[in-house]
Amino acid sequence: MTNKKWIFVTAGSRGIGAEIVRRLAEEGYSVIFTWHTNQEKAEKLVQSLDNKGLSCRCYCCDVRDHAAVKDLCERLLQAFGAPFGIVNNAGISKDKLLINTEVSEWQEVMDININSVFYTIRSLLPAMIQAGQGAIINIGSVAGLRGNAGQSVYSATKAAQAGLTRSLAREVGLFQIRVNCIAPGPIETDMLTALPDKKRKALTGQTALKKFGQPADVANMVSFLFGPGGEHITGQTLVIDGGLSV
Ligand code: NDP
Repeated sequence: MTNKKWIFVTAGSRGIGAEIVRRLAEEGYSVIFTWHTNQEKAEKLVQSLDNKGLSCRCYCCDVRDHAAVKDLCERLLQAFGAPFGIVNNAGISKDKLLINTEVSEWQEVMDININSVFYTIRSLLPAMIQAGQGAIINIGSVAGLRGNAGQSVYSATKAAQAGLTRSLAREVGLFQIRVNCIAPGPIETDMLTALPDKKRKALTGQTALKKFGQPADVANMVSFLFGPGGEHITGQTLVIDGGLSV
């Protein structure tokens, strides 16, 4: 890898994750990201960055699987040393009323959205502490900050991310490691494709800016938090929702 400062991003194959990978690579970081099912998209992204002389690799990893995450992280630590950063971006939603939610659905959302955050941090943090630098960014959601009928399990995981962010920031601050959470509102990705037109219009109307965000809006904040602008920011959940929640 060209830059020793490398950043680990979960779920970089598409959507917000892919934009974060692109942005960080363009800023000169070496980026290592995971994909789960979209191997082709992931490899295309690596190839397009490679064509520009930028440093990026991708690995298959089901973030629900603790052993798989641990094994991948151990291999990366051995090969590249401590990462400069982690972006916990993997996330899914299974929107339905709690009363209709199956235990297996609850478990899957928990596994991907919050348990995986613990798995990556638990695996990589000791090396970051030894290195005495770094930043962790969790991609949460405004759904973790406000109530949303049909999103109880999703909201629970995103609120958990914000809580973990605050407490972990206090645990690792003395090692000069910062931990923050980004809470986007609706962002144009595959996650929103199932949203019926009527709901989409209603939701757009509730934002102050009268539009949904783009993956680049989130990537901009990730870039800011890793850069000099973010140097004194830790434990925060930063909302990017076009004014949906004000
Ligand atoms: P997408 O639906 O576009 O992409 C989901 C990503 O998660 C894909 O990269 C997918 O990998 C990966 N993934 C799914 N299951 C697994 C798994 N078991 N193991 C590893 N990776 C997995 O999502 P977005 O880009 O929209 O969302 C990214 C993050 O942003 C999520 O945490 C989401 O909650 C959050 N967010 C999104 C908002 C939005 O409106 N889009 C709003 C607020 C927050 P693959 O394609 O390889 O299968």
